[in-house]
Amino acid sequence: MPNKNYVVLGSSTAGINAIKILRDLDKEANITLISKDDKIYSRCMLHHVISGHRSVESINFVEENFIGENNINWLKSKTVNSIDTENKIVRLDNQDISYDKLLIATGASAFIPPIKNIKQGNHIYPLRNIEDVFDIKEKINTSKKVAIIGAGLIGIDALTALMEFEDLEVSLIYPNDFILDRQLDEYSAKVYEDKFIELGAKLYPSLPVNQIVLDENNDVKGVELGDNTVVECDMLIVSTGVKPNTDFIDNTDIENNRGIVISNKCETNIKDVYAAGDVVGKNAIWPLAVKQGIVAAYNMVGVEKILDDDFTFKNSMNFVGIPTVSLGIVIPPDDTYDVITRCDKYGYKKFVIKDNIITGFLAQGDISYTGPITYLIKHNVEIKNLKDRVFDIGYADFFSMKENGEFEYDLKN
Ligand SMILES: Cc1cc2nc3c(=O)[nH]c(=O)nc-3n(C[C@H](O)[C@H](O)[C@H](O)COP(=O)(O)OP(=O)(O)OC[C@H]3O[C@@H](n4cnc5c(N)ncnc54)[C@H](O)[C@@H]3O)c2cc1C
Repeated sequence: MPNKNYVVLGSSTAGINAIKILRDLDKEANITLISKDDKIYSRCMLHHVISGHRSVESINFVEENFIGENNINWLKSKTVNSIDTENKIVRLDNQDISYDKLLIATGASAFIPPIKNIKQGNHIYPLRNIEDVFDIKEKINTSKKVAIIGAGLIGIDALTALMEFEDLEVSLIYPNDFILDRQLDEYSAKVYEDKFIELGAKLYPSLPVNQIVLDENNDVKGVELGDNTVVECDMLIVSTGVKPNTDFIDNTDIENNRGIVISNKCETNIKDVYAAGDVVGKNAIWPLAVKQGIVAAYNMVGVEKILDDDFTFKNSMNFVGIPTVSLGIVIPPDDTYDVITRCDKYGYKKFVIKDNIITGFLAQGDISYTGPITYLIKHNVEIKNLKDRVFDIGYADFFSMKENGEFEYDLKN
């Protein structure tokens, strides 16, 4: 039998984790990797390169010579323009690549909202690729005032990195009432907001952006807010979400609904075409991209593997030295939920409970307690007799130890 031709589009975490499995399971296969990127690096670490805590080399997440040792044909700095799924061909500029099985792991790009002047302004950057970091770092040398639009995880990454530059005034602009409103509640967000303000940042919550103010050279001068005030800046970072990179499938029948639609085996609706990572448009986070890349690769080789976790319910962060974990629904949608909070010298904890089942949990400061709670939420465990002492629930309440030292789930309550 001739060797299989596996083609993987995208050299980030979904694509690379898929390649590891493909090579592991099929030593003889031809594996071709195609990417716009010419480096392998962790996008989660980009802000550390801005602040100078990390070098570009140190955010590479594979071992040296990974490509060579795994005998991968890497076509780097190449853009996929289209796919011919009938003839099983990926089309690049002046080059066609055939595949037997194809994995689309082309991730996502920064979403730039339709705000007046945002497209034509100079010194306006997203934070998605290493090239954005190079642009931002170069501009920092002459910049006095930087503004950031968007207070999600990437906006706050940018904020904390830029706050490290002593002579730089940093402003954060967001339409929401508090930062990180998908992960935190008002109280835990305020803990961070107060700290950012104490460290010199200026925060502008609860207002939309009217337009970007440019000078006669189209250089950015400021951001005009909904109340007509202008936040001055000579550099602007836009972190207002992401959109999956799917332009090159427009000519195909691959199902696309704000991201490539996949089964729990990471198959698309087209035979022998798989997709994984941010391009799927579900939950644009690293661990899910890893898992989907792995699941896709197993199924490409013919070993059945099912995706059993969409990682939507857990977020952890550690900004300005304050760790926080949020699990599930931390803001109750209506008053049928019970909310129990505790705030002490160790930090803040919050339980959201419905019908004796914990649906959400937030811990800020001391997060040592999250292991058993994660289990309880994930498995919808009833905590009827423990409601009065939720802050003291431990493994002992629900687990017993097996002879080999592992914990075993054992509901006695
Ligand atoms: C600043 C920042 C901080 C983050 N922090 C966290 C965090 O703390 N925790 C977390 O879980 N997640 C975080 N994320 C998200 C995480 O980085 C992504 O979920 C992850 O990178 C997705 O990996 P991926 O393989 O799907 O795609 P991507 O990382 O988006 O990579 C896409 C790949 O496809 C290639 N490509 C795209 N289009 C084409 C084309 N047409 N032709 C050829 N190649 C193409 C690109 O060159 C690239 O190699 C962060 C992201 C950013 C930007």
